Amino acid sequence: MQDLLRQLSQDFARQLPEKLQEVAAMLQHMQATNAFGQDVFKLYRAVHSLTGSGATFGMPQVSTCARALELQLRGLSESDKPADRALWQAIESDFSALRQAADVAITSWANMEASKSSAIKSPVPAAAVAEGAEGAVSAKGQSRTLVLVEDDVALARTLTSQLELYGYKVAMAYSAAEVNVMLKQEMPLALLIDIMLPHDVNGGFRLARGIDQESRRHVPMIFMSARHDLQARLESVRCGADAFFVKPIDITHLTDLLESYLGDSQAEACRVLIVEDSEVQATLYSETLRHAGIETEILTDPIQLEGVLNRFMPELILMDMYMPGCTGEELARVIRQQEAFVSVPIVFLSAEKDFGRQLMAMTSGGDDFLTKPIEAEHLILAIKNRVNRYRVLRNLMERDSLTGLLHHTKSKEQLDIELARAQRTQYPLSLAMIDLDLFKQVNDRYGHPVGDRVIKSLVQLLRQRLRVTDIIGRYGGEEFLAVFTDTSAIAAAKVLNQIRISFSRVVQYAGDMSEFYVTFSAGIAEYPITGSTGTDLIQAADEALYQAKAKGRNRIVISDKESVDGAGKRP
Ligand code: GH3
Ligand code: MG
Ligand code: MG
Ligand code: MG
Repeated sequence: MQDLLRQLSQDFARQLPEKLQEVAAMLQHMQATNAFGQDVFKLYRAVHSLTGSGATFGMPQVSTCARALELQLRGLSESDKPADRALWQAIESDFSALRQAADVAITSWANMEASKSSAIKSPVPAAAVAEGAEGAVSAKGQSRTLVLVEDDVALARTLTSQLELYGYKVAMAYSAAEVNVMLKQEMPLALLIDIMLPHDVNGGFRLARGIDQESRRHVPMIFMSARHDLQARLESVRCGADAFFVKPIDITHLTDLLESYLGDSQAEACRVLIVEDSEVQATLYSETLRHAGIETEILTDPIQLEGVLNRFMPELILMDMYMPGCTGEELARVIRQQEAFVSVPIVFLSAEKDFGRQLMAMTSGGDDFLTKPIEAEHLILAIKNRVNRYRVLRNLMERDSLTGLLHHTKSKEQLDIELARAQRTQYPLSLAMIDLDLFKQVNDRYGHPVGDRVIKSLVQLLRQRLRVTDIIGRYGGEEFLAVFTDTSAIAAAKVLNQIRISFSRVVQYAGDMSEFYVTFSAGIAEYPITGSTGTDLIQAADEALYQAKAKGRNRIVISDKESVDGAGKRP
């Protein structure tokens, strides 16, 4: 328990700067719009939660300062007229006191942790993730390092440069001993081993047998060879190979496989909404789940349900049965009435032991019933299982089967959701429309299946280079939509331009293994500069894309209002 609390406190200390940032942004917005009454309620809640958690997680000063600010805001949230200058000044000074208290607390936390020699890892900043190609760590922190055993220098070099385009880092090794050292240093994503080594046609196999099996247990081993006879394949299987590639290596196939190894660990955290009127209990569940890597949001006032659903987009709702104002059953019915939430699992969590009542709750739209008190392990498992099943279902409904991206309608919906968020937070948002160049020719020359592989190779690159928060959809056959949240058009263009250059260097293989290259063009529009609705932005980005094509393709054009209106051009 002591450990858990320490861990939770550490998490809290880590997240505190971000939370304060959010409060600051809200505060600024409230002040600019001179908000009062219900409009400041969200801000009040945010500060209120700092009061509670500050006290729980060993930062009493933070709690005290938050309390002072909270009281001011509560007054304003209950008031029916805007604040005067004096009140805003008081609020500001309370907030700056809170900031200072937080700074002191965070520093002393960090020092304390450091002295216990368990250093706090700083989170990866968004910008670093966006340029993930430079580092060899995926957005979720998993190693993208590959160990390559290959005597052919030219081949090693091409393979390395191709893999680097997809954000992998390649480390060369020439003996089993070297591989063993590397396995101990940093767990690589996979081993790539050439079979024919100098003076030994079976050198790769021999080397593989010298690898320490215990350290390699979770590291897939891939053999590569110009040989494709059954004997070679058999031998590779006997050495414990996970895959066998015949040279020349088809890079799209290889990265497809590597991406599947990244697979699970790249999955997003589950989002669980906890509807529970008791704040203490809600916090307990929330902390238990968060500790297991599940993202949570607490709703203690069911009346706020609508807003939370749309903003948080929960993948499971943990619902209390009895709450003041309405029951869990009623709330479940309300949720089921909305198309977007028809299939979100609802799990009742209640002290209700009466089986008949439990059944009743299920008929109103609940999926399961868990009885309080519940073991943490059981709760976590029950939730993870249901969320996984929900994801599989949703993927079938919402995603494109070739690329796994959101399809047309769904990507537009996501764009609208992000736009609403941008409107609320007053951050910019950029939308890119990406279209493969002269793709009809690719199909005509090499056939549709090869064209499909080209599409996949672009999608892999986009997925790898964009942040987890960025949205990518397959808008049309060879046309993609990317939403860059909190990003200006210029910044988005910079990221996309790097991807454009990388993609133009990706070697594409035709069926007969002849090589070719493909490029793409893109148009970018920025909210709120070029449009305020999803439709406007799409149209503006499309227009810019058209210009990129007209100017000779393989380029990115940023839309601006004048050129969209046809009135002029960007200088
Ligand atoms: P531009 O540079 O002007 O965009 O030229 P383009 O040839 O790419 O443009 P156009 O829109 O004329 O052709 C798009 C082609 O993309 C036509 C279609 O056969 C192909 N395509 C669309 N969806 C798919 C798909 O899922 N797989 C494959 N292989 N081809 C597709
Ligand atoms: Mg060789
Ligand atoms: Mg095209
Ligand atoms: Mg097109």
